[in-house]
Amino acid sequence: MAGDVIKTDAVIIGAGPVGLFAVFELGLLDIKTHLIDILDKPGGQCAELYPEKPIYDIPAFPIITGQDLTEGLLVQIKPFDPVFHLQQRVDELKPGSDGGFHLTTDIGTRFETKIVIIAAGGGSFTPKRPPLSGIEQVEGTSVFYSVRRIEDFKDKNILIAGGGDSALDWALNLHPVAKRITLVHRREEFRAAPDSVNKMRALADAGELDFVIGQVMELHGEGDRLEAASIRLKEGEMTRLECDRLLPFFGLTMKLGPVADWGLNLERNHIPVDTEKFETSTKGIFAIGDINTYPGKLKLILSGFHEAALMARQAHRYVYPDTKLVFQHTTSSSSLQRKLGVK
Ligand SMILES: Cc1cc2nc3c(=O)[nH]c(=O)nc-3n(C[C@H](O)[C@H](O)[C@H](O)COP(=O)(O)OP(=O)(O)OC[C@H]3O[C@@H](n4cnc5c(N)ncnc54)[C@H](O)[C@@H]3O)c2cc1C
Repeated sequence: MAGDVIKTDAVIIGAGPVGLFAVFELGLLDIKTHLIDILDKPGGQCAELYPEKPIYDIPAFPIITGQDLTEGLLVQIKPFDPVFHLQQRVDELKPGSDGGFHLTTDIGTRFETKIVIIAAGGGSFTPKRPPLSGIEQVEGTSVFYSVRRIEDFKDKNILIAGGGDSALDWALNLHPVAKRITLVHRREEFRAAPDSVNKMRALADAGELDFVIGQVMELHGEGDRLEAASIRLKEGEMTRLECDRLLPFFGLTMKLGPVADWGLNLERNHIPVDTEKFETSTKGIFAIGDINTYPGKLKLILSGFHEAALMARQAHRYVYPDTKLVFQHTTSSSSLQRKLGVK
């Protein structure tokens, strides 16, 4: 569609859980949405970083995986028919002459919109790549920075590097399916949740998992196939460990990316908003979810859902300036139920 200008009520930058739920809240108020995301699928961090990991603090879902939450949100917003523009990064956001905004993506898709919702999470996030010679060659075949499909790790010799929650969680979650798990971390102490560390140590004591204090120094293999890694142990000597999968978990580089160039006020790479409307320093541009900041902000999915609901009420004022907004419940409003296709 590069070349054509897409005209719409609202563009949502970021199709993470919060961007997805914003479609619902805006849809109830008759506001049409287009979503843009760099990733190749909706779901943001939930889909990219922990699709099979259980989340325990989504109201009314005692347990739900990142992927199931994403799929549920996609079903919930279906009545509003949002348009997705995936694998595209929003590079430019400028005010238009008509009071709205113009956006352009890295592949040249252009939008004219009345309002913009920035739901960009941590911005353009990329995993930190360890400085190992030849690692690019085995990325996506033997080296992974997230677990997308547990099946890919079944019966494999897996080397997990890191000392944070991701490293510990995946050591525990992959343990039942892997042939063998080795966790390598450069020191005895971990940043991860103590409960996970205790579980890992219990498995190591029972001989069901190997924990090595050291650092991965070199990779060995043929073509795109990893066969072993050289590890420098605490005492300084080198050891060779056979492995066919490496999961390095050294955190993410959170780059705000193009968001920093859009003329918005920023506070430590986050966009300050008010807690009534979740609007930025520019009227008509909102920021919800992990990307925003305000006193007491918690980077939780449920906070982003709440923010989306309040944002939508102010958005309605810009999209329908002459229409008074009446507060309604979905349980009792036949007008909302018609929009949801249930009446
Ligand atoms: C391992 C892990 C476990 C977690 N567990 C929990 C939990 O148990 N409970 C909980 O509430 N929260 C949890 N979180 C946090 C939760 O995932 C985030 O709060 C949530 O994903 C924020 O949603 P979001 O939609 O604001 O942003 P994100 O999920 O980060 O989505 C933002 C999207 O915006 C896109 N984007 C950014 N910039 C651009 C651009 N310029 N152009 C196009 N696209 C762009 C990104 O690609 C991304 O897909 C966890 C996070 C991690 C990493």
